[in-house]
Amino acid sequence: MRMEDNSSDVAIGQLVGKYTYPHRSQKWRELTLEGIKIDHFDPKQNIVREVKKSPKLEKAHIAQVRYYLYRLVTAGIKDPIGVIEYPRLKRTVNVTFSDKVAEEVRSWITDIELIVRQKECPPVISKSYCKRCAYHDFCYV
Ligand code: SF4
Repeated sequence: MRMEDNSSDVAIGQLVGKYTYPHRSQKWRELTLEGIKIDHFDPKQNIVREVKKSPKLEKAHIAQVRYYLYRLVTAGIKDPIGVIEYPRLKRTVNVTFSDKVAEEVRSWITDIELIVRQKECPPVISKSYCKRCAYHDFCYV
């Protein structure tokens, strides 16, 4: 499921990424694995890059990149690393992978599988950031 494809915020983030560092665009490739699409992957150095407008949800951004790294490792890619860029702040956050991160990601997957198997949807969390989330319609319909 890729609700992000319809999100204006995601589209803006992609444009920020494309036009902030145009001289770097050559090395990045789009990489599709089952169920996910990584917009920026450097296959020479095994680097995943995410470009974000604001660090307001930095914890979620780091979780996203950790999940990507997990998927890359399970697909047989060696020692991938992640970089999150906030061009407006000229700030970069490095994301590394470890056995502990793998364990953490596996626990998220287990939690998600439990939620998916529930007969009822979980209660609405009503957070302000939901309004700008790409999955808003799905959660609040
Ligand atoms: S809209 Fe749904 S997926 Fe998005 S942050 Fe809120 S609860 Fe999470």
